[in-house]
Amino acid sequence: MLFHPLIARCLVCASLFAGGWAVTPPAAAEGFDLRQAVAVARRADLRVFEGQHLVLVTDRPSGSKDDLASLPALFDEAFDSWCDHFHFDPTDYAEWQAFGCLVVEPERFRSCGLLPPAIPAFENGFCAGSRFWLMDQSNPAYRRHLLLHEGVHAFTLTLRDLNTPAWYTEGIAELLATHRLSEGRFIATPVPLDADDVEQLGRIEAIRALRENAAAPSLTEVFETPPSEHHRIPDYAASWATLAFLTEHPRYQQAFAEAESGPLDGRFTQRLQATQGFDQQLAVRDFDAFTDDVDYGYDLTAMEVDWSAGRPLEKNVRMFVDPARGWQNTQVKLRMGQQVRFASRGRSQLGRLPGVEVDLESEGNGISIDWYRGRPIGRLLLAQWVMPANNQGRPRFIVLGEGGQGRLEASTDGPLFVRINDSPIGRRDNTPGLEIALIPQ
Ligand SMILES: [Zn+2]
Repeated sequence: MLFHPLIARCLVCASLFAGGWAVTPPAAAEGFDLRQAVAVARRADLRVFEGQHLVLVTDRPSGSKDDLASLPALFDEAFDSWCDHFHFDPTDYAEWQAFGCLVVEPERFRSCGLLPPAIPAFENGFCAGSRFWLMDQSNPAYRRHLLLHEGVHAFTLTLRDLNTPAWYTEGIAELLATHRLSEGRFIATPVPLDADDVEQLGRIEAIRALRENAAAPSLTEVFETPPSEHHRIPDYAASWATLAFLTEHPRYQQAFAEAESGPLDGRFTQRLQATQGFDQQLAVRDFDAFTDDVDYGYDLTAMEVDWSAGRPLEKNVRMFVDPARGWQNTQVKLRMGQQVRFASRGRSQLGRLPGVEVDLESEGNGISIDWYRGRPIGRLLLAQWVMPANNQGRPRFIVLGEGGQGRLEASTDGPLFVRINDSPIGRRDNTPGLEIALIPQ
C-alpha cells in the first residue's frame, strides 16, 4: 500500500472514497508557489487573511459575521505550542508558512486552480505538504479545530517528515489542535476541561460510547489500525485518547517523548515499544483504565493507578482515602468470593461549590448537594479491576461496595481499590480526612 509522506487526509479528513493510500501522490505537494497562489486567490475574488505562519483563503462571503480575521493570529499562537511540543525554537522557523483553503463551494477553488484535480475528493479536510483544504463548518469552535488539525498535518509533514502509522498521524493532529480560548488566545488543552470549549468535537463522548457498547479498542488495537480503516469519528477519538494518554501519563510520557524525538516513520510504533521504560502490557492496562474513566478535566497524574498485587487480608487494615486521586490500591489482595466488611470515619474535604461560600465536607455516604455519574460526590467507593464476562469489551473497575459502611464480596482474585466519588474538576481541590477500615469476615 502506498503512503506518501507529504499527504494526510483525515477526519474528518475522511476522504469520500475508500481504499486507503493506494492513490497516486498529487503533484500539489511539490513545486507550490505561495505568493503566486495568493495572487490567484485575489484575482478570483477570494478573501485572503494573512499571518506569520498561515495564509488563509476562503470563498465564505465577506460581510458574514465570523471570526476568520482572527484565525491567522490564533494559528501563529498554536504554531508556537507545536514548536514547544517538538522542542523546536520558533525563531528557527520564522519563515514557515502554510496555505489553507477554507472551502464553501469547491468549484470556486477548482476553477481558479487552487484545488488541483490531483487532490482526491474529501469530506472535511485534506493536507498535502504545506497546503491544506477544509470544508467550512457552521460551528466556529469546530472550524477552528479542523483548521488547526490540518495545520498540525502541514507542520509535521514538512518539518518532521512524518510518515507514521495512522494512530500517530491523526492522534498528534487531534491532540495539538485541541484547545480553548482565553480572552481570544489559544490555550492548548490535551484533555479538554469543558465541553463548551470544544463544541461539536465529541471525542470524550465517543470514547464513553465505545466503552458502553463494549467496543472500545485496546491500546494494541489502536496501534495496529491500518490507515484504510482509520476513517470514522471513533477512530479519531481513539487516536486522540492514545496521544493524550502517552503524553500526559507519568508512567509513559518520558519514554514517549524519547521515541517522538526520533524518526516519525513507519516503524514508530515498534520504536516506541522498544524504548526503555515503555512496558506494553502495563500500558495496555493503564490505557484501559483511562478509557474506562475519561471525562472533561481528567488528570492522568492524579488518576495514575498502582497495580501492585497486595497481601491477603488477615487482620483489620486502615488507610486514609485521598479524595484528590483516582482509584487507590488498598494493598489488600482478595480471593474471588471473599467477604469483607468496611467502615469509614472522618470526613473528606471537597473544596467549594461554585457560588457557595462554604467548605464542603463529606462522610462516607457522600453529600447529595451534588452528584457525579449517578452517585453523590464524596461517597466512598470500593472496587476491583475485573475482566469482562465472555471477553466482551475491555476490563474495567467494578464498584463492589459504597457508602459509609457495609459489606462486599470480591468479584475476582486481585487487589481492592478505593476512591471518593467526584468529577475530575471537583477532585482537584479535595483534601483527605476520611479513613476506612477493612475487616476480614
Ligand atoms: Zn487528519
